[in-house]
Amino acid sequence: MLLLLVLLGSLGLKACQEPDKPKMQVYVFDTGRITAFDASVLSPGVDSGRVITLGNPSFLIVHPKGTLMWDTGHPDSLTRFPEGIREAFALMQHQRPLLEQLQAVGVPPQEVTYLALSHLHTDHAGNANYFRNATLLIQREEYEAAFGREPERYLFAPGLYNQLTKRKVLTGDYDVFGDGTVVLKKAPGHSPGHQALFIRLPERGPVLISGDLYHHARNRQYRRVPVFNFNRDQSRESIEDIEQFVQQQGAQVWIQHDPAFADTVQYAPYAYR
Ligand SMILES: [Zn+2]
Repeated sequence: MLLLLVLLGSLGLKACQEPDKPKMQVYVFDTGRITAFDASVLSPGVDSGRVITLGNPSFLIVHPKGTLMWDTGHPDSLTRFPEGIREAFALMQHQRPLLEQLQAVGVPPQEVTYLALSHLHTDHAGNANYFRNATLLIQREEYEAAFGREPERYLFAPGLYNQLTKRKVLTGDYDVFGDGTVVLKKAPGHSPGHQALFIRLPERGPVLISGDLYHHARNRQYRRVPVFNFNRDQSRESIEDIEQFVQQQGAQVWIQHDPAFADTVQYAPYAYR
């Protein structure tokens, strides 16, 4: 009798509950490492000759109204070179194909709604062409540089993103799903139309994913601007703007290339909520 009452009670409770609404969550993918041979390229005059290894993650935001891929890491073709590839200033390494990591969380790239890149340098645009069904959300200045006549001048490699034909060209901050939970923040300077990503997670709260506004925590602390940034003054202004915004929102900051972030972040299939 008691069992029957408990059973009826739990059934009644279930009937009263609303169906589970899908909540927003974020997956972080491990899409490589960058070992700079001289850390002072990131912090002029500081750490000269010191080697530094940076992380290079990418992110999938799953929202009730759609999905947004934020950056795409090194090209998966780099996984064919287990030792990595040596470039002028750094060794580029990538072991875990993004395609497999996306499949493991059940989101094939052709089903992703939006693609936004912090900027189009090769370590962020590496797998952009996987997302040719998605709408690219890009700032006007980045669009003109990347799809104009001299993309190489900006250190862009058009072969990585030339299949992205669905584009929405932006002229500032952009609220992706219209409810304030996923907002692109224009932050130019590292590249002509660099942007950062603000998200408001249901449990964790506000997070600012900083693109290449900083490459590691000490550069954020001392506001240092790398030697290869497109515009130094603009970089400084963007840092001021974003820091003010972060304070207003009480947001935590995820510095994408920060070595400590790469070591402590929980990669997919773990989901941040
Ligand atoms: Zn970068």
